[in-house]
Amino acid sequence: MKIVTVVGARPQFIKAAAVSRVIRGEYAGRVEEVLVHTGQHYDSNMSAVFFEELGIPAPGHHLEISGGGHGAMTGRMLQALEGVLAQEKPDWVLIYGDTNSTLAAALAAVKMHIPVAHVEAGLRSFNMRMPEEVNRIVADRVSTLLFCPTRVAVDNLRDEGVTRGVHLVGDVMFDVSLYYRDLARRSSDALQRFGLQEGGYVLTTCHRAENTDDPQRLAAILGALGEVAEHLPVLLPVHPRTRNIIRERDLASLLGKVQVVEPLSFMDMVRLEQSARVVVTDSGGVQKEAFFYQVPCVTMRDETEWTETVDLGWNRLVGADRQRIVAAVREAKRPSGAQARPYGDGQASRAIIEQLLG
Ligand code: UDP
Repeated sequence: MKIVTVVGARPQFIKAAAVSRVIRGEYAGRVEEVLVHTGQHYDSNMSAVFFEELGIPAPGHHLEISGGGHGAMTGRMLQALEGVLAQEKPDWVLIYGDTNSTLAAALAAVKMHIPVAHVEAGLRSFNMRMPEEVNRIVADRVSTLLFCPTRVAVDNLRDEGVTRGVHLVGDVMFDVSLYYRDLARRSSDALQRFGLQEGGYVLTTCHRAENTDDPQRLAAILGALGEVAEHLPVLLPVHPRTRNIIRERDLASLLGKVQVVEPLSFMDMVRLEQSARVVVTDSGGVQKEAFFYQVPCVTMRDETEWTETVDLGWNRLVGADRQRIVAAVREAKRPSGAQARPYGDGQASRAIIEQLLG
């Protein structure tokens, strides 16, 4: 069986790494995987470092498509992917998450009558203003196999009338967290490098368009982080889009004592998540990683796809409201009670390949 896997953005490299490792391990000889990198994320610290650190095989095709508006980027990817798929003739196209690379690969494949398998199917924010929501709805609609990370995702698809090809496999990010949990502790010296104490700092990320592209929301977020940093060290590994907007709008002074650093390698990120007092983020992946490592999370969004983290008391949604962010960080604590496991048994990658093999 031949699979073409299409990735392009940081979270996709991390998810694809988990599945690729299993393919190259116990399925070697039975499954051939050709990786296509669209180029959506291209900075070395947003791309190459993940391939090196997570041992992802070099892409068979690098399309080098990034930048431009959603239309231009998606259109160029669509065109280039048609060429790749015509050449590779895979049995499956495997896609991850909700980026423009996900959307382009889904559309290119389905129009060439190549079945699509979507990892992270069924997630919904019910906010159609998010580009990710549009991408994931379209990707799900044209996919033959829909790999859901959670029961909620299965229910979302059912509510849209989609039940065929739907499989609850668990979350590949949970697989990833089990694999890297101890490795990161052993191999990263990020705590010392950034002068941070175990349990004594806030780790924060911010990159969602709904926050970065709205001047009021961004100012409220940066102001809140600056306020928190008056009392507690705050580390912000800054996403390139956020960095550029902060520079263009001259907003850096709002951050005050926040320690702003380049995007972190995955090992450093996991290490710092594990020892943070609180994680403050608008990232989907980081919300869940905080949950996996049992660190309270404050989410700077109005809704989340990962409702389990909120329901179980580990995550609080505060929007982009300065006062609410500051208060939530101050009040954040671990919930009492047993830790539920809503994200599967750590075997999502294997379950995905088994389904692809049929
Ligand atoms: N991440 C990382 N370095 C960073 C910030 C994030 O390795 O400086 C990792 C993080 O641990 C998580 C993933 O990137 O696994 C999340 O990606 P991102 O926040 O870009 O996207 P989202 O999950 O919101 O789609």
